[in-house]
Amino acid sequence: MDDFEQLKLEVNQCTKCVLSKTRTNVVFGEGFSNAEIMCIGEGPGYYEDQRGRPFVGKSGQLLDKILDVCGFNRKDHVFIGNIVKCRPPNNRDPLPEERETCIPYIYKQIELINPKIIILLGATALKGLIDPDAKITKVRGEWMTWNNRLVMPTFHPSALLRNEKLKRPVWEDFKKVVVKYREMVNENHHSEYC
Ligand code: SF4
Repeated sequence: MDDFEQLKLEVNQCTKCVLSKTRTNVVFGEGFSNAEIMCIGEGPGYYEDQRGRPFVGKSGQLLDKILDVCGFNRKDHVFIGNIVKCRPPNNRDPLPEERETCIPYIYKQIELINPKIIILLGATALKGLIDPDAKITKVRGEWMTWNNRLVMPTFHPSALLRNEKLKRPVWEDFKKVVVKYREMVNENHHSEYC
């Protein structure tokens, strides 16, 4: 068993925080295990908890659509994970202690997958990975670096579903990712968007 499968086994059995008591399934994440792009969200919602897969509800369908237009998919280009792997009850925000307990798993996933670009989807991902005091409204769309990796913070797809006005800035952010992907990974990368 390789390190990635070993980690998956460990995470799927984890009971380190109280979210283990109310979850249906652990949501380890899914996608290409050597992806050049990692998308990181907050945590599983109802459908993700039921199915044990990340971003499978309406937000996930929107994320897949955005990725698709950019020429990316889960199979070949992207790994999608979350800051916490178990659903917080009633979709509340994960508590700081839950984030802190779970964050070593996303660190390990990043280390093993070794992506060139990390897309942070929403405030919890930004606070969890970069800075607990960072504000997504202030820093979205600006490249950051974290442990020598490029990071693009943007709004969570669920925010787009609540507020149409956020669609334009998110498309702009993903456009920057496509341009950077061409620079760093594949200059011939095709996207119908840009
Ligand atoms: S949220 Fe993370 S730390 Fe808490 S039980 Fe699930 S996998 Fe373990």
